[in-house]
Amino acid sequence: MNTETIDHSRPGARSPATGEALSEVDTTPVEAIAGIVEEAREAQADWAKASLGLRSRMLLEAAEAVLERSEEIAEIISQETGKSVPEVLLNEVSGINEYAKVAIKEAEATLGPAKVSISRVAYPGKKAVVESVPRGVVGIIAPWNYPFSIFFKPLFPALLAGNAVVLKPSEFTPRTGAWLAERFTEVLGDGLVSVVQGGGDVGAALLESGIDAVTFTGSVATGRKVAARAGELLIPHSVELGGKDAAIVLADCNFERTLAGITQWALHNCGQNCGAIERLYIEESIADDFVSRLAALFEKVRVAPEFEYCEIGPLQNPAQLETVERHIDDALKKGAELLAGGDRCNGGQGLGFRPTLLDHCTDEMDVVREETFGPVIAVLRVEDEEEAIRRANASNYGLNGSVWTTDLTRGKAIARRLDVGVALVNNHAIPGSMANIPWTGTGDTGTGIAASRYSYPTFIRHQTIFVDSSRGPDPWWFPFNEDTRELSETLIEFSLGSVFSAIKLAGIAKRRVKAIREWVSESGN
Ligand code: NAD
Repeated sequence: MNTETIDHSRPGARSPATGEALSEVDTTPVEAIAGIVEEAREAQADWAKASLGLRSRMLLEAAEAVLERSEEIAEIISQETGKSVPEVLLNEVSGINEYAKVAIKEAEATLGPAKVSISRVAYPGKKAVVESVPRGVVGIIAPWNYPFSIFFKPLFPALLAGNAVVLKPSEFTPRTGAWLAERFTEVLGDGLVSVVQGGGDVGAALLESGIDAVTFTGSVATGRKVAARAGELLIPHSVELGGKDAAIVLADCNFERTLAGITQWALHNCGQNCGAIERLYIEESIADDFVSRLAALFEKVRVAPEFEYCEIGPLQNPAQLETVERHIDDALKKGAELLAGGDRCNGGQGLGFRPTLLDHCTDEMDVVREETFGPVIAVLRVEDEEEAIRRANASNYGLNGSVWTTDLTRGKAIARRLDVGVALVNNHAIPGSMANIPWTGTGDTGTGIAASRYSYPTFIRHQTIFVDSSRGPDPWWFPFNEDTRELSETLIEFSLGSVFSAIKLAGIAKRRVKAIREWVSESGN
């Protein structure tokens, strides 16, 4: 089998690694989606009444149900993505229980009712609490790059907050999403975690089907459409889009560790990671040594399924392969130097591509400007940190950015100047697997906030319960009289810190309440 003879063009139909045909998955008819959302709404009514403690216990049970069958889901993900089973187990499956536990702590810190402090002098007799109310049914539209774990970020907070969810997996990885929904349904019962299958038309139809909020992870082009439509429908939305992450390697870095770290985060998931290092800004003084060692490491990274243990899988689909090859061609035409990779691997089988390092890249190259989403790093040599920061920030995207240096104070100062949502010193992208760190960005990366307590506005609305236990009317109610003016003046004095004004206020309030009572009782005569 080779890519010449295998047709990989039908989304999700074949293994990207071997070209083997996979089982058929039925598309959800768009006219059935409103009914699925309605069933979700019915299930949500009881779920919203359950305590956070009960919801938490049930979600931990669901996470355990996943782990009991971890080999099974790892096989499915491996077939759909081409990643090896050990890679999938490590990066997608094994962390679910820990993720759930941390997500529960975030929910506990976020969802409880908050008492409001109200001045007893200015507003006597009044108390208020602000409570969190679930939105209802949340649509979760996902891409294919981490087809399983990408769901965790919205799934846990949405359910912990008392919502039902409808998952829309990518058409490239439908079986993984379906399996996840099945495990959760076994524990939580029907309707709370449903799934709709298909392409963009199904995602678009989900938005029209009565959902109360939507989270979207995917490309900039689709994200804009989803955000625009959600805006028209006035439903909360969180859109997490592309990336073009930069790493800045300074001359004082820990040389060997930085080599390993850059290799890891440029090639993790075959570079099909919104938080992959795609641009490397390196100080000229160490560039020759660092880049030649980096190229040697890239050559050592093994691509599935050629080896029993391999660090990365193939590209997931032919469009990705085409983008990678187009960016490399463009860079070479514009003067980049190819130091590693640059071609397909696995003897032409599947969609594997060798880890690729391009040196002497410049700002006008596609591989520097556009998201590549593949196993490719563009090296840009700089004179100093100022040039590195300026050029790293000259991007439409802003998800992660990292600085590699042994001077942590200097590293933090540079990190703060990076125009990104997640700025790191001596690491990259790892917060993406943590349930208590907001995964968010700037510019074309989108306005969404995924994971952590900061993501909750998509999943809850706030409702204030305000209770007045006063027996008399409020002193500022109708009718107005000469005391009304004095009341305002004394309130101003009180707000400016006059201690006597509190005593004065009590006297005016008493007179006002008496006047209001008389006014009301006169109307009964
Ligand atoms: P995509 O935009 O093509 O598709 C994403 C999802 O949207 C799929 O489920 C698709 O069927 C659905 N969809 C397509 N058209 C739609 C429409 N009109 N309305 C509603 N849904 C629609 O993206 P992709 O190729 O699957 O994913 C790759 C992209 O995702 C990359 O740009 C990557 O950077 C990004 N990504 C971002 C993050 C992040 O957290 N920022 C994480 C992972 C991936």
